[in-house]
Amino acid sequence: MSTEPAPSAGAWFAPGRVNLIGEHTDYNDGFVLPFALPHRAVVTASAAAGRTGRVHSAQQDAVVEFSAPTVVPGEVTGWAAYVAGTCWAFREAGHPVGEVDLWLDSDVPVGAGLSSSAAVECAVGVALAGLAGVSVDPTGLARIARRAENEFVGAPTGGMDQMASMHGRSGRLVFLDTRDDTVQLVPFDPPAHGLELLVIDSRAPHAHADGEYGARRADCEAAAAALGVPALRDARLTDLATLTDDRIRRRARHVITENDRVREVVALLSGGADPREIGPLLDASHRSMRDDFEITVPHVDVAVQAARAGGAIGARMTGGGFGGCVIALCDADRVDAVTSAVRAAYTERGWAEPVVFPGRPSDGAGRLPG
Ligand code: ADP
Ligand code: MG
Repeated sequence: MSTEPAPSAGAWFAPGRVNLIGEHTDYNDGFVLPFALPHRAVVTASAAAGRTGRVHSAQQDAVVEFSAPTVVPGEVTGWAAYVAGTCWAFREAGHPVGEVDLWLDSDVPVGAGLSSSAAVECAVGVALAGLAGVSVDPTGLARIARRAENEFVGAPTGGMDQMASMHGRSGRLVFLDTRDDTVQLVPFDPPAHGLELLVIDSRAPHAHADGEYGARRADCEAAAAALGVPALRDARLTDLATLTDDRIRRRARHVITENDRVREVVALLSGGADPREIGPLLDASHRSMRDDFEITVPHVDVAVQAARAGGAIGARMTGGGFGGCVIALCDADRVDAVTSAVRAAYTERGWAEPVVFPGRPSDGAGRLPG
């Protein structure tokens, strides 16, 4: 704990994230490789001495009152639960929480799989630590934020989003081992190599994502049990022949090969390779999600195909699947061609225009100057 006096007010931020590679590996004790986006949630915080605190969101145009020192799960629902839940989890971790006003504004797209929820939680977490004048390490704050989402909001998510939002750094990927939460920062700065990593929000209607997510988890657990390993992270490709159920075997093959791909990308980029060399691994990840794990939908498959046809070096769906975003690694001078190719493919099918922006690895949560 720091001995510095608590500042009375300030502004703190935390970013959304995108996962470069490593999909559905987190609940198999495996590896993920996200980075923090330039898009952020910003929280302006001040102590609300002598009255109940208030939380406001510019995106909801609403004010919600709750008492941060006493709030418990079930008391606050809806969007404000992400904020109240973080206050609760911060308190539960043994840190001091007073009545507080939290003014929230975020440019992280909501529900696109870019983790607007973790951005809100982590921004509130760093704000609470700053207000209380305590220093909590980034992994500690990420765990508090995850607990808010799991136990207060009630969303059974892994810890990647919060770890990326807390640990992200400009020009770096967050290589996370989800078995023990260890983090290694890996260099990845596309513009420095004449590249851009485009993020393409497919705007696909999310259908049955929750049920399918549960079914994939169950398949992975069945595969690990049949192979006699604690988690699929511990299985090898050569073990797969012993799995008799074709679906279970393909699910396991995705997780095993995806973990290998994450480690290959990390080895290439840590070793100073040209980032273009990861292109084939991005493509292979997409094929594995499409054919073995069966979590893609036409909107994302079409975006990937069109991006590759337009000149992308590699492309894949990112996120849990059944919609969400595609990432495409492109030479900077191919950005317009790739974007046009994806837009044209969508127009041809009468689909809503996808949102395309450059995803550049950016800094994780912190205090804004001033
Ligand atoms: P994702 O994290 O992929 O964007 P989630 O469903 O996990 O999608 O989280 C989205 C939810 O987070 C929103 O429905 C809302 O409740 C909350 N949220 C995100 N951003 C804001 C914001 N700026 N203001 C208020 N609530 C927000
Ligand atoms: Mg989320």
